[in-house]
Amino acid sequence: MKRARMFVIVVATVLACGPASPAAWGMDVHRWITRRAIDGLPADIRPFFVAKRDFISEHAADPDLWRVVGLKGNLGEEDPNHYLDLDILDEPVPFTNVPRDLAAFVNRYGADRATRMGRLPWRTEEIYTRLVNTFRDVGKPTAPYAADNSRYLVAVLAHYVEDAHVPFHATGNHDGQLTGQKGIHSRFESELVLRNLNRLRLSPVAIRPVANVRDFIFDTLVTSQSFVAAALDADRKAVTAHPGYDDAYYAAFFSHGRTIVETRISDASSAVASVVMSAWEAAGRPRLPVEPAR
Ligand SMILES: [Zn+2]
Repeated sequence: MKRARMFVIVVATVLACGPASPAAWGMDVHRWITRRAIDGLPADIRPFFVAKRDFISEHAADPDLWRVVGLKGNLGEEDPNHYLDLDILDEPVPFTNVPRDLAAFVNRYGADRATRMGRLPWRTEEIYTRLVNTFRDVGKPTAPYAADNSRYLVAVLAHYVEDAHVPFHATGNHDGQLTGQKGIHSRFESELVLRNLNRLRLSPVAIRPVANVRDFIFDTLVTSQSFVAAALDADRKAVTAHPGYDDAYYAAFFSHGRTIVETRISDASSAVASVVMSAWEAAGRPRLPVEPAR
């Protein structure tokens, strides 16, 4: 059965019903983090992306929509591209025994289990490599779409980098189903964030070189997994005091889980900007022209 991690499978219902629901908000968080990341890029590449900021942030939700229509990529079905269930691989924390080479990973756990556990680091690496190659083509007369394509790939790459920062994308207890906390996935990554957007104390976007994007995503997932117990605990405390997932519940959830949300969102924006910057450097720092408006 497919796991609806971002709950976008009900997007059609949302559209039909009008007002916002948690289903749409998961995608809005992706858009918002991506927008922050673009604004935090260094001045030598920022204008190229800011010129199409709406386009990029809108499409940062696309990979979740590909799951809705069953699109498949080179690595297989879309769903496992969005997570890696580190803590049900029967390896000790901090998961240094988990192979970071995809063939070795599949070899260690078997093809079926490897697919079920997810493949977010390798999917991110795949898109990153496409971006580096596309950056190299920007400005060549033989590649008239390279500029637009590189912006689209940034949107897609942002999605996967952001997913790696969500604790519930790094655990087998991805929707609280193992601890009687069903629904925590969207409560945490969607509604909790969107109810508190204006209250979040976020660090400025910081650019750090990313030498190996696959290792970077692995390390990010290990950190995300380390927040799972605390996020579950925050939800448990909130729902014990305020059953029903009402305003009082979310206020309590925020007071107990605030630091986790702020840390992961700050880090996600910085990570997106850092990965984009590193891809551009890996491509040889090509000139990224801002096309005149037509
Ligand atoms: Zn996703």
